[in-house]
Amino acid sequence: MSAHATNEPAAFPSILPGATLGVMGGGQLGQMFVHAAQSMGYRTAVLDPDAASPAGLVSHRHVAAGYENAEGLAALAHEADAITTEFENVPAAALTALAQLKRVAPAAAAVAIAQDRATEKNHFRQLGVPCAPFAVIDSEAALQAVDEELLPGILKTARLGYDGKGQITVADRAALREAWQTLGQVVCVLEQRLELDYEVSVVLARGFDGTIVHLPVQRNIHRNGILATTLVLPGHIAEPVAQQVLQAARRIAEGTGYVGVLCVEFFVLGDGSVVANEMAPRPHNSGHYSIDACDVSQFELQVRTLAGLPLTAPRQHSPAVMLNVLGDLWFPSGSQAPRTPDWAAILGLPGVHLHLYGKAEARRGRKMGHVTITADTTEVALETAARAARQLGLPLDF
Ligand code: ATP
Ligand code: MG
Repeated sequence: MSAHATNEPAAFPSILPGATLGVMGGGQLGQMFVHAAQSMGYRTAVLDPDAASPAGLVSHRHVAAGYENAEGLAALAHEADAITTEFENVPAAALTALAQLKRVAPAAAAVAIAQDRATEKNHFRQLGVPCAPFAVIDSEAALQAVDEELLPGILKTARLGYDGKGQITVADRAALREAWQTLGQVVCVLEQRLELDYEVSVVLARGFDGTIVHLPVQRNIHRNGILATTLVLPGHIAEPVAQQVLQAARRIAEGTGYVGVLCVEFFVLGDGSVVANEMAPRPHNSGHYSIDACDVSQFELQVRTLAGLPLTAPRQHSPAVMLNVLGDLWFPSGSQAPRTPDWAAILGLPGVHLHLYGKAEARRGRKMGHVTITADTTEVALETAARAARQLGLPLDF
């Protein structure tokens, strides 16, 4: 057992296949959790208000209720032996209520930290994890007191931002004031705009007994604030960078007493130093490649942590490139009527794994699926990914 054990393992016996695992949220992350759980012989239950949610459609049981609906929560707790979450904006109160009835991981307190950028950054700071210089903007006085060194910066709403939503780049004080108006004067974090060399993330899993395992450090390319491509190529990330990333991610997991799958996003700066951007208390888009390129996926790690099963170190068996499939692909060069991409064409390339989440309507910016390309070598993986990107009409920015 690890020296960092926070819980008595005896208090968290393994929940074995045949039992039911529940998940709050029915999006694609919930769907891939359900797939992993079912392939290991679990039954599944999903709570999501949408009757056609991706996870709800494939789960044994779908409770179609709001996240704060007491009857819905009771129904989920009745069905499931243990419950996790697939998105961080589940009301913490709902997780706390569920935890009175059944095992819940990650805990409400850890999810609550990730729900609020201000809390999250203060938490990183407290743990000695470097992050971008920032200030919390929650009043006119705070706005006026902003340090000049934070400009140019990025103003981000403290809550409910994702995929670059709720963010405005500001060059100077006048722009900052205007941006805060535009964002409705809600509580925001102003971050110094850093010169990024590149971006990485890591997915780790921490068990009830304090054991930590992790996937390899992933390199991420964003377009318009949305993850576009993840590259996981052996030897691709300088060792000192990987070490800083892992140390920081472990520190966050241990400092939070975290149980479950945790992803931390980082910026790598020109001098090779690393700063934490944000954490996700769940599997992450940048870890999707692990389904096809690792012997244990991030979703199986989620199942194992929730069920209190052993955590063995995941091994990446193939270099991988993941291309996100956004709804934009249904609208090539400004076309109005949606057109389904030519899946058959990319499936003709060796080592292409197509994942579509079954969302009925394609919209620009909406995550519809992803494609992972695996190969024996980095060169072949990159070459095939470039061909797949060309077929799909994606920019070749990797
Ligand atoms: P997601 O949901 O995709 O993780 P998000 O809406 O939570 O995105 P962030 O992760 O905060 O937003 O930022 C999105 C992207 O914007 C980052 O991945 C990075 O490319 C850029 N970015 C954010 N903050 C900074 C910064 N301080 N300096 C430079 N670039 C930044
Ligand atoms: Mg992010």
